[in-house]
Amino acid sequence: MFPPLNPAGALKDGKPPDETDNANYFCEYAFLYHQMDMLEDEHRTGAYFNAITWNPESFKDKVVLDVGAGTCILSMFAAKAGAKEVFAVEATDMAVRSRKLVQAQGLSHIIKVLQGTVETVTLPSMVDVIISEWMGYFLLRESMLDSVLIARDRFLKPGGALFPSHATLFLAPVGSAKACREKQQTFDGERQHFDNFNCTMMQYYGTDFSCMQEEFLEEQRKYYLQTGMFVNLAPKQLAGSGSPVLEIDLSTITLQDLKDSAKPLRCCMRISRDSQLEGFTGYFNVTFRGSTQNPVKEVVELTTAPTTKTATHWGQQLFGFFPPLQAKNEDVLECQLFIKRQKKNHRLLQLDSAFELCRESNGKRFVCQKREDTWYVD
Ligand code: SAH
Repeated sequence: MFPPLNPAGALKDGKPPDETDNANYFCEYAFLYHQMDMLEDEHRTGAYFNAITWNPESFKDKVVLDVGAGTCILSMFAAKAGAKEVFAVEATDMAVRSRKLVQAQGLSHIIKVLQGTVETVTLPSMVDVIISEWMGYFLLRESMLDSVLIARDRFLKPGGALFPSHATLFLAPVGSAKACREKQQTFDGERQHFDNFNCTMMQYYGTDFSCMQEEFLEEQRKYYLQTGMFVNLAPKQLAGSGSPVLEIDLSTITLQDLKDSAKPLRCCMRISRDSQLEGFTGYFNVTFRGSTQNPVKEVVELTTAPTTKTATHWGQQLFGFFPPLQAKNEDVLECQLFIKRQKKNHRLLQLDSAFELCRESNGKRFVCQKREDTWYVD
């Protein structure tokens, strides 16, 4: 499906992304302000810096591929850690700027910037290490992991390492969340808005819009109640600890596994206090372990979990239960989740979920509340 390695051994830029994907996704990354936003996230940039520079034996004299290089910051870390050659692949015009940046650091003899999608570039050789910062909201938004897996299958030597090597998506129950209450109020306001609108249309223009009421409410429900919210939660807002719902080993997961939603993901969240559950949240960790054949000396982890410290630029995604669930200490919130890609834009997500709040009474376990909902990560 993708071109093989270049037999002539030449280095060749790739093709730009297609127009729709560019408008939906890539164009943002051509702006310096957006790259700077990511660079200024010190949890993110610091974790990559530590993972690479604390493990020079993983980079010394190695050939490295940076998938989605942006400003080439990760390529520069790899060069500083002793890499022999770094192929920095960036789809957008940021590649032009990163060439300038690389030159300004005196690293052009090591870092070769290639402009184009990683799916279409040509490299002269296989690589020992792939570095990439591909994570989006709720870990998988943006679907950039697809490109990393394609790069792995095209270019990584057997036994080569991926940085990061593992990723885990967690769900946690949320007790009190003002953001959910505000969304409910806004939605209720829109219900009233429609009634007023219809009265006006009748009174002044003799036109009855009431047959549109359900469709309007559906549209508004989707927007206000069924779309994940960007939040920075504090640990005290959780009603129980996070539970892993998806664990990814980047060295083995296939594109098919990633896209296939035949089986639901499952997790059980323990409730640790009597509380009204206003929603649940999703956040992730990535870990840098190197490969089985070449493990790192210093394992580094990057987390986007709720914190009292400064948050990452990913924050967490919050999904509301409307109305809230009434939970008790020691209840278990069981979740079945399908993470799908939205039909109109494969980089955005649709979550189809089924929740059961389970309680034990007289040694018997029963389901006391159930919810089935669809959410969107836009
Ligand atoms: N590595 C940089 C930038 C990370 S943001 C850093 O850590 O700061 C992700 C970057 O990957 C964006 O600049 C985006 O344009 C690029 N990108 C995403 N998918 C790509 C693909 N398939 N091929 C090449 N570049 C890609």
